[in-house]
Amino acid sequence: MSILMMACTGHKNTDATGQKGTFSYEVDQFADLQILRYQVPGFESLSLKQKQLLYHLSEAGLMGRDILFDQNNRYNLVIRRLLETVYAEYKWDHGDVQFKALKVYLKRVWFSNGIHHHYGEDKFVPGFTPEFLTDCIKSIDASHLPLRPGQNVDQFMEEIYPVIFNPEIMSKKTVQSGEQDLILASANNYYAGGITQKEVEKFYDEMRNPNDSTPISYGLNSRLVKEADGRIVEKVWKVGGLYTEAIEKIVSELEKAVAFAENDTQKAVIEKLIAYYKNGDLRTFDEYAILWVNDTQSDVDFINGFTETYGDPLGMKASWESTVNFINKEATERTKVISNNAQWFEDHSPMDDRFKKKEVKGVTAKVITVAMLGGDCYPATPIGINLPNADWIRHIHGSKSVTIENITEAYDKASQGGGFNEEFVWSDAERELIKKYGFITDNLHTDLHECLGHGSGIILPGVDPNALKSYSSTLEEARADLFGLYYMGDAKLLELGLVPDKDAYKSEYYKFMMNGLMTQLVRIDLGKNMEEAHMRNRQLIARWVYEKGQADKVVELKKKDNKTYVVINDYIKLRNLFGQLLAEAQRIKSEGDYAAGQRLVEDYAVKVDPVLHAEVLERYARLNLSPYRGFVNPVMKEVKNAKGEVTDIVLDYTEGYTEQMLRYSKDYSFLPSYN
Ligand code: ZN
Repeated sequence: MSILMMACTGHKNTDATGQKGTFSYEVDQFADLQILRYQVPGFESLSLKQKQLLYHLSEAGLMGRDILFDQNNRYNLVIRRLLETVYAEYKWDHGDVQFKALKVYLKRVWFSNGIHHHYGEDKFVPGFTPEFLTDCIKSIDASHLPLRPGQNVDQFMEEIYPVIFNPEIMSKKTVQSGEQDLILASANNYYAGGITQKEVEKFYDEMRNPNDSTPISYGLNSRLVKEADGRIVEKVWKVGGLYTEAIEKIVSELEKAVAFAENDTQKAVIEKLIAYYKNGDLRTFDEYAILWVNDTQSDVDFINGFTETYGDPLGMKASWESTVNFINKEATERTKVISNNAQWFEDHSPMDDRFKKKEVKGVTAKVITVAMLGGDCYPATPIGINLPNADWIRHIHGSKSVTIENITEAYDKASQGGGFNEEFVWSDAERELIKKYGFITDNLHTDLHECLGHGSGIILPGVDPNALKSYSSTLEEARADLFGLYYMGDAKLLELGLVPDKDAYKSEYYKFMMNGLMTQLVRIDLGKNMEEAHMRNRQLIARWVYEKGQADKVVELKKKDNKTYVVINDYIKLRNLFGQLLAEAQRIKSEGDYAAGQRLVEDYAVKVDPVLHAEVLERYARLNLSPYRGFVNPVMKEVKNAKGEVTDIVLDYTEGYTEQMLRYSKDYSFLPSYN
């Protein structure tokens, strides 16, 4: 429930030297992706001890890369290794179209941590032929190939080729909705052995104690497997369990980090995480999460572990991720103002009083600077994070919410120019608003979404927190977005000094509606439905307020020169509609109203208008922009003196995308090809 991805905007297709100032944000561009780099301002002025802490946490954050590949699909590691070997040992013309297509495919596999699109979830269609791949494989010494024990090259190809080339096999990473068995239909690796959705639900329903006021996040750190004899077994991801080869490395770096902890609280956080990686006990994980959320004093902070459950259609299994960061003190003043007024926002929200928190606890919000991204935060990166996810911990202990401003800044810098707003925004008036207020209001919406939105409201006593099942992610993101949207237009923000002008919010309203009704469609292939939770959420909100405001012409889709544009006629009424939908989204969560939640999502969030979709794709294609963006990390290095002592930690920003991916595959790869 807690990551916020960047809304879809455009960027300029510049060449490698395209620079803004002295720092070059653009690194690479291929398929539907652009790779950027981010700066880490303020790193140099940290103490050596803090830098060393960041260094070891960063190493720990890179050690788990293979885990995510394997979680996403059981063939991802073997395919990545095969392609990297082909890439390294290719003997013929590097300008060959087949080889170029293989390179693009490999770059996409790196980006998505597997063979399925990171956002659209569909399996990639390779641009090279099976015959070409066979020629490559046959030219390579068999001992360099990731074969199973005893497997020969022909058997290997027979096993792998359908996974790469047959679009019918493992076609979608996560199937989130529909009539079919969501577990069997999903190609990810959270469940195995042909276990059915019913069997999974029964297994965990029997574990859950409905009277437990501190419920365990069952299933969070394991694969559920149906063995050949029919027994159902949880294979826990821990030291000595599944993924032990990578987890031991993570633990070893965390153990080194302990020595550089800033204080005893932080030391306890790291030590508890180590204990959890060792015992795999979800009670220990909860203890860790509580310690972590209570550490608000340290400058350096991190996420490392099995965290978000978007990749599991049942919302239980968590993908591995890491971010390593430190506080941006100046920008944090802004979020302090928000969190200091959290109770005011809760009290004045349009939701029914029965669903309001009487006492808003511990909303700690800060703006951070990331120094390293790993696992499911890399290369596609969230711009805001709010954790922990367990509702009871949030209720009793609060949550920690962050806005990652060096990432939003890189997006903003890289987006200047490019012609996106010229193409899709209705008039100069809206373009001026966006130019003037876009960066401020984007960040503010993220702050409100993360630090107030997710944390607001209660679930009524006796309501199952999993009641909304596969619709929960979309509805939760919608609730948090609506909370932010509603308050963006409140006079309170001006009074608190958070916006420079009473009209600033209009920039965010316009961008949100344009994105939700139209421009985010550039990320979807023609004929496909909306799948990803954040995208569904945005369309749900935009379509709902558009429809409900139609009689009053609050928002219109107008034609000019045969092109469709979003036009907002009444910002005040639009705000009221956001408020109405917020009240309904909160009611659905508070009461666990599955049927109403299902209707909202299925009616507004899933289906795409094919005519508008085709138009948007056609207009977008002419701009030559990439709909998705991600980041390379800086290279973090220890500087040692003659005695071998570490005297400094430095950052290098010159590494390219392919270089970084190949280096990670060499230095941070510990799992077998099959797990
Ligand atoms: Zn969120």
